[in-house]
Amino acid sequence: MTNPVDDPAGFFPRGSVVLVGAGPGDPDLLTIGALRVLQAADCVVYDALVSPEVQALIPPACATIFAGKRGGRPSAKQIDISETLVRLARENKRVVRLKGGDPFMFGRGGEEACCLVREGIPFRVIPGVTAGVAGPAYAGIPLTHRGINASVGFFTGHEQNEGMEGTGAEDVRSSMDWALIGQIFPVIVLYMAMKNIGFIADRLVHGGRSPETPVAFVRWATTPRQSTLVTTLKDAQRDSVALDLKPPAIIVIGEVVHFRRALAWFADQTLENPVDT
Ligand code: SAH
Repeated sequence: MTNPVDDPAGFFPRGSVVLVGAGPGDPDLLTIGALRVLQAADCVVYDALVSPEVQALIPPACATIFAGKRGGRPSAKQIDISETLVRLARENKRVVRLKGGDPFMFGRGGEEACCLVREGIPFRVIPGVTAGVAGPAYAGIPLTHRGINASVGFFTGHEQNEGMEGTGAEDVRSSMDWALIGQIFPVIVLYMAMKNIGFIADRLVHGGRSPETPVAFVRWATTPRQSTLVTTLKDAQRDSVALDLKPPAIIVIGEVVHFRRALAWFADQTLENPVDT
């Protein structure tokens, strides 16, 4: 069989863009497709959440452009990133747009793809393992468990949409009915929720969820610095503040969090609130 990495032409034509999911950190979570296009790329445009271990897989001859976007820090504007992709493709390059996790999961990959379509640039998508799935798995938390839950919901705890700022629409407090969400979804996975966890936890309790419902924060999931805090809806805000937890973290809410006690297989750091110990 020909090694597809040696013969990428049909798979990755010049002048095209591939939106690639880098996964949450551990390079073992890259797909074979992601590795193939990385090894064939002329240029990689990557985000802040692409781990150094994954960046190390970019061949040295390949040009790299950092398009960092992290909450609260200066960031490349979405429009500039899309324009960069178009420009590089028009220079007849093989362009990889490498995004943390999965490009279409709270990753704005859809916006970039829409721009490529508008500009007539051929593109494809290689999905990645999203942090909301890999993080719980590396913390020893099955997102579904027979007899416990038959559904799981993935939410952003805060939209960071430029262009919507100042309209109030960037704050999901106003647009999401957390009390109802808590009644519908036995297990809730939150992205970008660090700032709003207190508010969200209150609303979930208000909607009828027990204040003792377990909550896990998984920081820097799947990386050597992964750390995990297990707390409850009632204490989630207090504990995350006491421990000064900062993004990136995935938050899992629901009874499945209890499985961590038995299933924590990955050597992460278990965090505990000093107030409790
Ligand atoms: N497209 C990404 C999500 C981007 S939104 C994906 O599919 O995973 C950014 C949010 O993702 C962060 O605020 C955090 O909630 C989560 N996240 C991404 N990488 C993470 C990691 N390694 N550990 C914990 N959370 C992560």
